[in-house]
Amino acid sequence: MVPARELRAASHQYYVADALRHAYNLAVERCIFHVDLDAFFVSVEQLHDPSLKGRPVIVGGHPDSRGVVSAASYEARRFGVHSAMPLAHAKRLCPQAVFIPVNFPRYIDASRRFMDLLGTVASIIEPLGLDEAFLDMSESVRELDGAHWHAVELKRRVREELGLIASVGVASCKIVAKVASEFDKPDGLVLVRPGDEAAFLAPLDVLKLPGVGQKTADSLIEIGVQTIGQLAALPDEVLLRRFGRYGDLLLNHARGIDDSPVEPRGEPKSVSRETTFPQDTRDIAHLHATLRSMCDEVARDLRGTRKRAKTVTLKLRYEDFQTVTRQSTLTTETIDAGDLFDAATSMLRVLMTGERRCIRLIGVRASRLSGPERQLGMFSQDAVKMQNLERAITQLHDRYGPKSIQTLGEKARRRGLPPRMT
Ligand SMILES: [Mg+2]
Repeated sequence: MVPARELRAASHQYYVADALRHAYNLAVERCIFHVDLDAFFVSVEQLHDPSLKGRPVIVGGHPDSRGVVSAASYEARRFGVHSAMPLAHAKRLCPQAVFIPVNFPRYIDASRRFMDLLGTVASIIEPLGLDEAFLDMSESVRELDGAHWHAVELKRRVREELGLIASVGVASCKIVAKVASEFDKPDGLVLVRPGDEAAFLAPLDVLKLPGVGQKTADSLIEIGVQTIGQLAALPDEVLLRRFGRYGDLLLNHARGIDDSPVEPRGEPKSVSRETTFPQDTRDIAHLHATLRSMCDEVARDLRGTRKRAKTVTLKLRYEDFQTVTRQSTLTTETIDAGDLFDAATSMLRVLMTGERRCIRLIGVRASRLSGPERQLGMFSQDAVKMQNLERAITQLHDRYGPKSIQTLGEKARRRGLPPRMT
């Protein structure tokens, strides 16, 4: 039987229990997990000092200092404390809280162990910061109950091997998986059935849509849009006029459409362009002209990264939102816009034969890239890990200043000592 959570919101029929009861053997084509550790900084501190468990804990520093809250335990959040709030304010709201300083090396160490664990679960992982990542589980999952089993197992391992709690969202695309992991925090597990993406998102506030900040939300309220469903129902022109290219992305996300791949950070694996037409079209000359200019741009990017492509992918989205892709492998690797264009147009010709629908979006992608960087072994596991770590450190620097974390070498240089390898 399914260890399911009770439905908390009646409008949401997409919890584990329901998703599985109605669709236990539903075939799953694309399966994306978003895994997010709950109250990460605080949980790591509680591991180091178990006496902090179950208490209101605020990470950020001394409450009389001028700093801000970096993280708060759920017990402290109940008093209205949240991150980025001045510590003095947090102390007024929750005077009994335990205030502790930020200890980045500790969090980075925990993050590394978390990412290593994820690496044993999926071969394609895209970390987002220290404590969350997308996993492409399409290869190991065939049916919805398989997705459920993997998610339960992953949560168990995070708990038992790392002592941390993860919330997991499972869906057919990244954007919906991310909303799903957030939906039932902490210790959440939410599966969205294939086909239910838009309905799952519809009742939620637009601010729940990743990428929508307060500014965008304010601007949407001006045109009467408060929920993701209302956003999804807007005519394309309205959003395109107001937000340009971003409007198209917003609209697709609101409809639960997101075909962006789970991509390990670091080296680009592909270079692509896509365009949504202001008006759906099936005019071949127009399609060719658009493809040509996109191929020119892709080729320019390839030259910029000094890479050659072996595979060309054409993507079409029809007026009814059905999306298809076709792939073609070139006889020789290329950097030439003409080669990309030839491959793309011949795939277009096949797809358009006998096709009555108009095209809403067209895209071209060059992949299986090779170039000088690859020979340096940039794709090796260690290099990718190092890049992830460096990115995490850069993010911390951006957020908390350059002194928040230093490598041993930097510290040594500051003290005038020779750098030490670790
Ligand atoms: Mg988190």
